[in-house]
Amino acid sequence: MKYYSTNGKAPIADLSKAVVKGLAEDRGLYMPERIKTLPKEFYENMGTMTFQDIAYNVASAFFGEDVDLDGLQDLVYDTLRFDCPVVKVEDNIYALELFHGPTLAFKDVGARFMARLLRYFTQNTQGNQNNLINVLVATSGDTGSAVANGFLGVEGIHVYVLYPKGKVSHIQESQFTTLGRNITAIEVDGVFDDCQRLVKSAFMDDELNAHMQLTSANSINVARFLPQAFYYFNAVARINKPSDIVMCVPSGNFGNICSALFGHEMGLPVKRFIAANNANDVFYQYLKTGQYNPKASVQTLANAMDVGDPSNFARIVNLYSENGKLTAEETHQRITSLISGCTYSDDQIRETMRQCYADTGYVLDPHGACGYRALKEQLKPGEVGIFCETAHPAKFKEKVDEILGTDIEIPERLAAFMRGEKQSVPMSKDFDDFKKYLLSQ
Ligand SMILES: *Cc1c(COP(=O)(O)O)cnc(C)c1O
Repeated sequence: MKYYSTNGKAPIADLSKAVVKGLAEDRGLYMPERIKTLPKEFYENMGTMTFQDIAYNVASAFFGEDVDLDGLQDLVYDTLRFDCPVVKVEDNIYALELFHGPTLAFKDVGARFMARLLRYFTQNTQGNQNNLINVLVATSGDTGSAVANGFLGVEGIHVYVLYPKGKVSHIQESQFTTLGRNITAIEVDGVFDDCQRLVKSAFMDDELNAHMQLTSANSINVARFLPQAFYYFNAVARINKPSDIVMCVPSGNFGNICSALFGHEMGLPVKRFIAANNANDVFYQYLKTGQYNPKASVQTLANAMDVGDPSNFARIVNLYSENGKLTAEETHQRITSLISGCTYSDDQIRETMRQCYADTGYVLDPHGACGYRALKEQLKPGEVGIFCETAHPAKFKEKVDEILGTDIEIPERLAAFMRGEKQSVPMSKDFDDFKKYLLSQ
């Protein structure tokens, strides 16, 4: 399978290049040139298949031409060592719980798959196991933990997580500073933007790139976003009422919903989608007006969705415009006929968390709350709604307890991180210091 860039000015890439490079040369996002429909028998049998088998079928459609099938099966099974169950919250509303992985958020699935695919390519394609790949990732909290844990113990790969000193929560920091092994946490005396700048400068520095192989584990990477389709297929299989399912995804950078839309193109029987937003409503405005006007993000309770210019918007437009063949109006029309939106303030998020807890006993995290509320408001008679619960509420324990008046339990695997010993490398925000450090490795 070949991959083209949404900007249309970069050479076509194969999967290994798309995964190692992440972003195309023209700064566009890679798109698979074909999306295969899965056969009718697969959909008929899905209800009796395991999550891993369903995922393997989906993975084969995307990656089966580039990864040998035994290797791909190992990769999928090893990625999905935890479940993504569908839990009934109330009549016709289900939570797709994506927080049962190592860092208790949905990004675990994509990060684990990407790490294993990268290892596969370094071992099989280059035939040189000594060729260490260095992953640089800047984080404001959650991405760093998913990437660090996804790559933990994966041979041939070393990860450097750059994070702003004193600007991430204790829970988040413990998830990437206590791991050791092939993970190095770098505590930058600056803000998130400084971390991002250090990483970008490193990718552009010729001397560094000659010294070591550098790559990013950004969420726009095809190996991180496509595997997220796995759990949408599993959710539909478990609900087993195909025709009128509404899938609702709390969205920030729109990678998660984009993978669901790819699933829909493969024939997944979902009737329509809802993209739930917090106060950052650029996509919601696009649905209403047809105009896409990126703006600076504002800080909210559901902070992993604080995105003012979602990168995967380009993928959604590219998909529904058939790579630019349709006009902007036709594309907008296709998108609005399949996807609706909503935008919620912090007050509405709090109110929703309280209402759901009082009426059903289910504890929502602030991101999932946007998804649940959208279904409450938009579900029509006869429809069944599934919203993604994108993170475990204990990841936001202080906020959740304050809003609900609870003292929610911290799952053991989260508590275990917090007992670990912090190890980090202090770093100034000066690129020369960072470069000197990397050259010494
Ligand atoms: C990353 C994240 C989101 C947003 O997902 P996108 O793929 O960026 O749209 C939502 N909730 C949580 C908890 C997240 O970590």
